[in-house]
Amino acid sequence: MSERPSRPADRSDDEPPPVDADYYAIDTDASEAEFLAACKLYAREVVDTFDLSVDVGALDWNISRRAKRRAGQVRYRDGDPETVVLTWGYFERRGWAAMASTIRHELIHVHLLNEHGDGSHGERFERWAERLDTGVACELFTTPEWWVVCEDCDAALARYRESKLVRRVDEYRCGECAGDLRLADGDARAAAGDE
Ligand SMILES: [Zn+2]
Ligand SMILES: [Zn+2]
Repeated sequence: MSERPSRPADRSDDEPPPVDADYYAIDTDASEAEFLAACKLYAREVVDTFDLSVDVGALDWNISRRAKRRAGQVRYRDGDPETVVLTWGYFERRGWAAMASTIRHELIHVHLLNEHGDGSHGERFERWAERLDTGVACELFTTPEWWVVCEDCDAALARYRESKLVRRVDEYRCGECAGDLRLADGDARAAAGDE
């Protein structure tokens, strides 16, 4: 009998295996229909693996081409989840792995709405986010339009609108170290993997 690889002690044996998002991966030149089809297939697999109370086929799955501040959203009425909206621009900029994480995030919302009428990012959400290896804050995933970064320390402020600070950045100083500030493109920073 061969020896089995050991597992970390805090991982229980009945924990479901993680879903391999790469298996469903699509390129950013996919059509909207291809994109949504891949998202739903992946969502079904996640739902099955983690036994979430989500009926993937009963939900509407839409794309937003306008959303800037969030990667995805669940729309619900009277506590009932109706639509999962995924942000195209986020997929384009960050690719499938990031979008798969967003899908897991939104599935947690649907699950908690169905089970508890809970649409928050509270404690229940945090526990599930850990299990499904996704983020708790929707905003965490969005790419800001700009970063205001300090030349002297590593302070960086995400900015989603063209505020006074963005327009006249050289009139301001770093709040941490009083160093000079400069403007960096949001995408450039995200592409470097530095959030
Ligand atoms: Zn959320
Ligand atoms: Zn600084």
